[in-house]
Amino acid sequence: MVYPQLNLRDQSSHLLWTIEFTRTRMSLLNPFRSPRCVPNFLYAFMRSGAKVLACLLICSLLTGCLWSAKNQTAGLPAQYRVKTGQLLLLSDFKLKESHPLVDELQMLRAEVNETLELPYQKTPITVYLFEDEATYQKYLAKHHPELPHRRAYFVQQGTEFAVYTFWGEQIQEDLMHEYTHGLLHSNLHGLPLWLDEGLAEYFEVDRKTEGRLHPQYTHQLNRQIAEGWQPDIKRLEQITEFSDLKLADYRESWGWVHFMLHDSPESKQVLLDYLHGFQTENQKWSPSLPLSDSLAKMNPAYKERLQKYLAVLPDEYGEEQHAAR
Ligand SMILES: [Zn+2]
Repeated sequence: MVYPQLNLRDQSSHLLWTIEFTRTRMSLLNPFRSPRCVPNFLYAFMRSGAKVLACLLICSLLTGCLWSAKNQTAGLPAQYRVKTGQLLLLSDFKLKESHPLVDELQMLRAEVNETLELPYQKTPITVYLFEDEATYQKYLAKHHPELPHRRAYFVQQGTEFAVYTFWGEQIQEDLMHEYTHGLLHSNLHGLPLWLDEGLAEYFEVDRKTEGRLHPQYTHQLNRQIAEGWQPDIKRLEQITEFSDLKLADYRESWGWVHFMLHDSPESKQVLLDYLHGFQTENQKWSPSLPLSDSLAKMNPAYKERLQKYLAVLPDEYGEEQHAAR
């Protein structure tokens, strides 16, 4: 996997991207996987107290300059384009429509829609793919110096969806994650923060990975359970600030999503019913609409069920693999 050697430079610079805004703990724990993903400015503004982003939005609304069309497009990749489905991929280097990465994004769209039983939308999701990290950083430094360093961003402005990233060693993982946000946002409105991230973490994993087990999270959650950790979805449901979403929360969100999608048809249906409630444009998430209530109706002992699920998760798929040989 990974599609390297297009133009890889100074991978050690990833290590410099470790002091971040919302995922600092993640960076410190795992410097090889630098954070990405501040969903979007409007999105961040609506439910995040992140003062910098709120200020950014207010300034842009008042002055109309920060994200004016002229400023926004200056320096963005534009020379080559690939358009397929919802994907509009713009780059300054040639990337064929038949490139495996484009195929992966197409398959991801089908997988997200089919797994979550969502309709196919036409709203374009524009991916600005910079040739290298330096060019990407230069663009962000010039146009958004207030933003923390990330390997990739998903930005929503009204009904416009855009992903900003560069060609690097983790391009597939980063694009899978951010493109998932785009697919979710083109279908669902006001999704809770933890669930938005949990789903993006779920779909960023290479679909060929057995059980779609996250390479970092699976064993960490397994160990946490063994040490007596108590997952708490109600706590996740109360997080409304991006700055409050830590690495452990991304990991736990992935665990809940994986559990609901794989534990039983009933648990998957609970998730789907909840998600489909956000298809109405005026739907806005509020803590009075918790998914935990639906899980409790399905099984009052759902927390214990999750703990058991996570406790055996790696072995479950390991045994299946073994049996298949
Ligand atoms: Zn994300």
